[in-house]
Amino acid sequence: MVNSDKLVNILFHIADIIKENKDHLTELDQAIGDGDHGINLDRGFSAVKEHFLSTKDNIPKDLGLILSKTAMILISKVGGASGPLYGTAIMKASNIVSKKEEMNLLDGLNMLEAAIQGIKERGKAEQGDKTMLDTLIPTLTTLKDCINKKLTNDEIKKYVLESAKKGMKSTKEYSANKGRASYLGARSIGHIDPGAKSSYLIIKAIINTID
Ligand code: ADP
Ligand code: MG
Repeated sequence: MVNSDKLVNILFHIADIIKENKDHLTELDQAIGDGDHGINLDRGFSAVKEHFLSTKDNIPKDLGLILSKTAMILISKVGGASGPLYGTAIMKASNIVSKKEEMNLLDGLNMLEAAIQGIKERGKAEQGDKTMLDTLIPTLTTLKDCINKKLTNDEIKKYVLESAKKGMKSTKEYSANKGRASYLGARSIGHIDPGAKSSYLIIKAIINTID
């Protein structure tokens, strides 16, 4: 079960892992984009962390409110293509836990599904277009599969992380059809998509923070 304290802790871990990988994400974006992905995301998630640190005696119990605030901060601070996409994803996920003070694995599954739906509606991309969706869609498929098979939490974490990693790495094989990288056409092949990598890091931070 994740309550408001744990959710904020997850957000802090995401902010930390993005900061640690800021230069790496920027390098990936330098190869096939404009080199701002790490800078964009670090600015956004640092602002999220600062917000919840500065209001730490006043954090809502309602998980939906925590995530809708997070989405609004990301939308206003990240910019680029990824700001509105991650912002929409988290806003859609926030609806699933609106008015809830705790969430379980099934809520997590529904949140990921809603987040992906939001990214698809907003960015009109599909799996194989070399975007963050290439990490997130296989993650969702594996999570569903693990829940159906009634695997233990440790097994679920292991398989979900493996699948997110595999999806992220698969972007190396495709040429980009969406976003700035699509201007390069086939020359984008051989490079990992920066958004696929940041989504992997976010999934990893979540997995490493939950019990
Ligand atoms: P920008 O491309 O505006 O500089 P960022 O560098 O912050 O924005 O983010 C780039 C990432 O956004 C890409 O690596 C890709 O994963 C993701 N992206 C771009 N366009 C789309 C889209 N239409 N759908 C899903 N993800 C996208
Ligand atoms: Mg960029």
